[in-house]
Amino acid sequence: MTRDEPEHTISLPEATTALVREGCFVGGSWIEPEHGRRFRVQDPATGETIAACADATAKTAELAVHAAADAMPAWAALTARRRAEVLLAWYDLLTEHREALAALMTAEQGKPLAESLAEVDYGASFVRWFAEEAPRIAGEILASPSDGRRLLTLRQPVGVVSAITPWNFPVAMITRKVAPALAAGCAAVVKPAEDTPLCALALAELAQQAGVPDGVLNVVTSSEPAEVGRVLATHPLVRKLTFTGSTRVGTHLLELAAGTVKRTSMELGGNAPLIVFDDADLDRAVNGAIASRFRNGGQTCICTNRLLVHDSVQDAFVSRFVECVRALRVGPGTEPGVDIGPMISKSAADRLTELHAETVAAGATELLDRPAFEGPGSFVAPSVLVDAEPSMRIFREEIFGPIAVVYRFADEAAAVRLANETDAGLASYIYTADAARQWRVAEALEYGMVGVNEVAITGDAVPFGGIKQSGLGREGSTHGID
Ligand code: ADP
Repeated sequence: MTRDEPEHTISLPEATTALVREGCFVGGSWIEPEHGRRFRVQDPATGETIAACADATAKTAELAVHAAADAMPAWAALTARRRAEVLLAWYDLLTEHREALAALMTAEQGKPLAESLAEVDYGASFVRWFAEEAPRIAGEILASPSDGRRLLTLRQPVGVVSAITPWNFPVAMITRKVAPALAAGCAAVVKPAEDTPLCALALAELAQQAGVPDGVLNVVTSSEPAEVGRVLATHPLVRKLTFTGSTRVGTHLLELAAGTVKRTSMELGGNAPLIVFDDADLDRAVNGAIASRFRNGGQTCICTNRLLVHDSVQDAFVSRFVECVRALRVGPGTEPGVDIGPMISKSAADRLTELHAETVAAGATELLDRPAFEGPGSFVAPSVLVDAEPSMRIFREEIFGPIAVVYRFADEAAAVRLANETDAGLASYIYTADAARQWRVAEALEYGMVGVNEVAITGDAVPFGGIKQSGLGREGSTHGID
């Protein structure tokens, strides 16, 4: 589509409309790529068009990289305290506009409004956290190997940072990458997911209002991620690439980034087990399983992907769990009381329906009636599958939707073996009252993060990240700046 046919069909609250931008944000200006093409951003609950964003080309991405490289020296030369003040002003604006941003997020991403509000707060918390970290970036004085000489190290900004981000957390995945970069004195180019560019552009608008200098933060939107992504992963001026998304795209970007030896951070796919031992507090385990499996409609990389439940508590756990799942309400994220919004797209919903059918055909049993949804929204009813086996595809695949799959185990060794039987290693959860087992199993699990009787494992102070094929590096916490 071109600039002359924007076809906006949705009406948003006024405060939200005031934050909608459709150009690319480069060097402090809203620009259009030379061809004038745009791509539609749709509400997954209705299929309606919310906006039409500029469809960047490789050339737009190159402009953004140069804008960042030009802006960085002056930004890096400010005192860390001054950079912190600008970041805190950005934090204040994010907080002031939290409801408008949350409405925008629900419109383009679909998650229930309460979850959008929580994400804006969570996303803003990284900006505050890294503002606080900025003045504490220090070097080291090391023991000198000889008289008359002193050894010291400085921690310098790495250079232009490019960030490629996913649609499931349209605000937080950007702030978790951009805030530490800016705090350290780097400039950044962000390429948000094509399904959710509007939150990224609104973040840029508020950053400019907060006093982030022109060129220090750039946002390039595109419906052709490969073309723009190639520039961000290969341009010699880019010194660091940070990515959150699928393992498939992450490994491709790692290969591209290797050509110029870029530093990389990768947050890739998960396959989280949640293990319920026979001595677990079952109500707590059920609540944790519901929160962790169905958050964001099941579309997060730390969502429980496999429920591993001890034989002796399987029936009790499953019957309570099913009752809670039955009570979950599916619908548009704007409606009060909705627990599960639409999936991000029709194709995502179709993939889930197919995966579910394949699992049932392979011998698993569905415990709920799953109504099929008609209409333009990409809704999927929640599901509980039992009698599942590790040989099934669903055991290995990241589900990314509201399908809960329960597996059995007979003893602790079997639980650990099953849990580790995957190439992924991001988040895991265990429920047990036995303190010795908590430590033993947590250390035996090959995961970057282990929640013990707890699924709320994220936050600004938490070093978030995986091992094995779930990625490289840690975001958030005191490690996030590095
Ligand atoms: P998901 O499966 O969650 O959509 P993706 O890995 O496809 O995850 O997407 C995450 C981010 O990676 C998005 O911003 C998307 O546009 C981008 N992306 C997808 N394909 C490529 C690619 N070939 N090169 C660079 N970025 C890409």
